[in-house]
Amino acid sequence: MRKKIVKLGIMGGTFNPIHQGHLVAAEIIRDEFKLNEVLFVPSGKPPHKDNNEIASPRHRWMMTLLATATNDYFSTSSIEIERKGESYTYDTIVSLKKIYGEEVECYFITGADAIAQISTWHKVENLPSLAKFIAASRPGYKLDMEKIEPSFRKSTYLIEIPALAISSTEIRKRVKEGKTIKYLVPEVVEKYIYKNNLYR
Ligand code: ATP
Ligand code: MG
Repeated sequence: MRKKIVKLGIMGGTFNPIHQGHLVAAEIIRDEFKLNEVLFVPSGKPPHKDNNEIASPRHRWMMTLLATATNDYFSTSSIEIERKGESYTYDTIVSLKKIYGEEVECYFITGADAIAQISTWHKVENLPSLAKFIAASRPGYKLDMEKIEPSFRKSTYLIEIPALAISSTEIRKRVKEGKTIKYLVPEVVEKYIYKNNLYR
C-alpha cells in the first residue's frame, strides 16, 4: 500500500545531469512548503531542448535515482521516460493524480528561468487548476511576478533560496574539457558520468 501523500512536490527537468542546484532547490522548497514528498521526473524527449549532447533517458533517470536515494523525502519517477513522444507537464500531472489519488495537492517546482517560459507549455490554460507552481531563485535569472504569465500568478509562489550558480550545461562543458565537477554534483553522479563515459 502506497503511503498517503497529501502535498506532493513534482520536480521536472532534463537532469542531464542532475546537480546540487536541483537538489538544494527541491530540499529547501520541501521544507518551506511542508511537502510530504518530492518526486523527481526526468523528461523523456524534452520539448524545449535540442537533442544534441543529451544523455539517454535511462542514464538521466539512473543519475536522478542515485542522487535522490539518500533523502527520505525524495523519489524518482520513470513516468516521462516510459511515455512515447514529447514530455508534457500537463500529461504528467494528470497521470500522477491518478496514481496518488485525486485529492493530492500537487506543487510543481521550477527555477526562475523555467517559470518564465511557462506560456509556451502544452495545454497551459489547464495547468493552474491542476497544480500550484513554485519558482526558486536562480543566479542569472530575475525572479519576479512580472515575468510570470498573468493567468498563473494566483497559483504561483516565488521563493528565494541559497543561490547555486550551477547548470547542467556548465557540468557537461566541464566534463568535455576535463575539468573537475567534484561537489557540483553528488559523488555517485560524478562516478556514474565517468564510468559511463558521458559528455565526452
Ligand atoms: P541545462 O543547462 O541543460 O538547461 P539545467 O541546469 O537548467 O540544465 P534542467 O534539467 O534544465 O537543469 O532544470 C530542471 C529544473 O531545475 C528547471 O525548473 C530549472 O529552472 C531548475 N534549476 C536548474 N538549476 C537550478 C539552480 N542552480 N537553482 C535553481 N533552480 C535550478
Ligand atoms: Mg535548463
